Amino acid sequence: MKASSAASRKPNKMIFHSFAALAALVLILARWAAQLWLERLNQRHVLAHAGAVPDAFKEVFNAATYAKSIQYTLAKSRLNQVESSYDLVILLIVLFSGVVPWGFNLFIGRLGASAWASAAFLFAVALALALPGLPFDWHAQFRLEERFGFNTTTPKLWWLDRFKELLLAVVLGYPLLVLVLKLVEWTGARWWWWAWGCVLGFQLLMVVLAPILILPLFNKFTPLPEGSLHERLLSLARRTGFRAQSIQIMDGSKRSRHSNAFFTGFGRFRKIVLFDTLIQQLAGPELEAVLAHEIGHYKKKHLLKILIWSAVSSLAGFYLISILANQAWFYRAFGFEPGSIVPALLLFGLLAGVIMFWFSPLAHWWSRCYEYQADAFAATAMGEARPLIGGLRKLNEKNLSNLTPHPFYSGFYYSHPTLLEREQALKRMSD
Ligand SMILES: [Zn+2]
Repeated sequence: MKASSAASRKPNKMIFHSFAALAALVLILARWAAQLWLERLNQRHVLAHAGAVPDAFKEVFNAATYAKSIQYTLAKSRLNQVESSYDLVILLIVLFSGVVPWGFNLFIGRLGASAWASAAFLFAVALALALPGLPFDWHAQFRLEERFGFNTTTPKLWWLDRFKELLLAVVLGYPLLVLVLKLVEWTGARWWWWAWGCVLGFQLLMVVLAPILILPLFNKFTPLPEGSLHERLLSLARRTGFRAQSIQIMDGSKRSRHSNAFFTGFGRFRKIVLFDTLIQQLAGPELEAVLAHEIGHYKKKHLLKILIWSAVSSLAGFYLISILANQAWFYRAFGFEPGSIVPALLLFGLLAGVIMFWFSPLAHWWSRCYEYQADAFAATAMGEARPLIGGLRKLNEKNLSNLTPHPFYSGFYYSHPTLLEREQALKRMSD
């Protein structure tokens, strides 16, 4: 009697494990297929508009620059396709070959299951997963960006950057992992609350410290030089109630000819950064408008709202890990034995992106809403939309932006509305 019930239970469990593995496989393949399909869709859409500069952009691009922007878009898209397929193979090997459970047993067998050893294992896996992407980054920088005249990075600087990133991961990431694993030991079933609080505290600290301690490791930041531009930007800052000392110029030209501006930090530590490339490319009023856009992000508290949302979603993530850590089927589906939290953390880290991918249209839609708000703020602060439109046109031209993405593609991936969408919104405002 006993024997038969055990026998009938075993295949059921097996089916459940294989079902979980199969579900993961389907999700991974679905993302990969969607990525390739979106790239194909976008390539065809761009090529369909390649014949002549569309009427809406006649003032933005001349024929040669437009043709170049299409070549650039297609080259990036082809690289994305290759990279998606390459990432797919790596993820399948990591999840289903059994190499990670084997490594885990070996690692823990040698070093014990302490938080220090477990964190070292997680760190080693993350490092091993980062390595296969390096040739792609190299190719993107020294072949693709180089071909279109954007690259200014030297191989020496490129390696130095990778080294600094590794060092930061060792100094900041590894201790954080140890702390989270210690909290699992110390706090029992409610560990996920504590771990979340700890990660959240770390995030907040980084928002404050990154502009002061981390960004300067990679770039030089200087205050605005004296002169007419200084006066212009200062008076805008005064008008909009933004501390002018927080406006700084970054030597972006050290790595690339791409131009940009961004807002970062909190409260006293807030900072608006203009790339030196931007200052070279834009005229005074256009720069002022771009600065007003960044001040708009600050005034509308966009960074704070994004942080609150990220805190809520990371709480949900930790809760989900705490549930999965109690499910033997979840462990066995990927060749682990239940007992340690470490495989649950690792598997969650590997699989979360497969699910989050489907939410990226929503996240990007939200981000685009903020861009419209910042644009509207800038137009109001400037008293007119023209300088911002002029600045955005130049930015799109200099960066060889794709002016005709497929709506599905931009809806899925674009954190900023397209140039046409932004111009139309600004024109609606002034009507
Ligand atoms: Zn913005």
